[in-house]
Amino acid sequence: MPKIKIHRSVEEILIMAASVVAASTVLPFAIYRYFHGQYTIALVEVLAVFIVASIGLLVWKTRDTTYTSTALSAFILAGLVLLNYLIDSSIFIWTYPIIMTVYFLNPAKRSALLVIPTLLALFPLMYIEKTTIEFASAIVTVIITLVFSHLVSGKIRQQNERLQNLINYDGLTGALNRRSLDDRLDLLQSLYFRHKAPGSNIVSVIIFDIDDFKMINDTRGHLEGDKILINLTKYIKKMIRKTDEFYRYGGEEFVVIVNGSNLYKAGELAEKIRAAIEETELLKDLTVTASFGVAEIQSLEESQSWLARADKALYRAKRAGKNRVYLANPEKVNDFEKDYENYKKEKSQA
Ligand code: GH3
Ligand code: MG
Ligand code: MG
Repeated sequence: MPKIKIHRSVEEILIMAASVVAASTVLPFAIYRYFHGQYTIALVEVLAVFIVASIGLLVWKTRDTTYTSTALSAFILAGLVLLNYLIDSSIFIWTYPIIMTVYFLNPAKRSALLVIPTLLALFPLMYIEKTTIEFASAIVTVIITLVFSHLVSGKIRQQNERLQNLINYDGLTGALNRRSLDDRLDLLQSLYFRHKAPGSNIVSVIIFDIDDFKMINDTRGHLEGDKILINLTKYIKKMIRKTDEFYRYGGEEFVVIVNGSNLYKAGELAEKIRAAIEETELLKDLTVTASFGVAEIQSLEESQSWLARADKALYRAKRAGKNRVYLANPEKVNDFEKDYENYKKEKSQA
């Protein structure tokens, strides 16, 4: 039975957390204002709580993080300006944590575009209400907070990107690695199962393994062997469509995910890749061959057993004499309606 999991991204969790924190911080103030007869302010604050909570809910439902993070930040900043002018500049102190929150939620450049106009809107009020020295210290401290948040946020995002690259890509070839492959297969399997319309999420995997690579390493050396793997990756990435995905499964084994293709279409692509590898000098005066296994996704199967079917076909290709493509038999005929009925029955009995 495929596991259907929802992986929430860090961004989603951050925005939802920020929305909960912002809404629950403002709500007590709204209640306080209401009981002190400041109805307009209480109304503005209740509206703010409502909007901010709705944005959190929107993230929960739609999983969008780009628009929602900008919208949430824009509303918080607008609320800050409005309340400063409605109440007085004592509210200005909230500017500091809000700047940090905005930088927490958005890329540095977008945060600057949101925060700077807000500050320009707040400074006239500070200028009117505060003494010159208070006004000057507000400007200086706010600018320090802004610059610091900008630098730290840029750095964190940069490091995050590097870390993501390290986690998801193979260091030698730059292809996506096995970890990414496992995640991707899991996702494809659950998408395939969730959309019952037959053929709507059809996808196949091709796995291939270079033939007699050990011998090539032994005769040409390990470094040359590495170069073959690097050149092969570059070559195949150019060959496949934009919608196809290329992974290094490990050693001299690679996987292509062929989105939108059934077993036979993916088999044709595998044959094209096989012939191209055979004919291309990946190193000077050296060609290699590879053996291929292809399997189409089928419902109610763990992603790993989908890949295992392809791997078995590859093994058969090796045994049959290498440098050829074998297609995996489906272990059973796809019957979505029946599979889904069975799944529901099992679930209701559990
Ligand atoms: P077969 O046709 O059955 O696949 O034979 P093979 O020699 O390719 O298979 P085997 O699994 O026996 O050997 C795989 C070799 O691949 C052994 C290992 O030294 C080599 N290899 C694995 N990873 C790397 C790598 O990153 N760089 C290099 N140069 N060689 C590698
Ligand atoms: Mg091999
Ligand atoms: Mg191997």
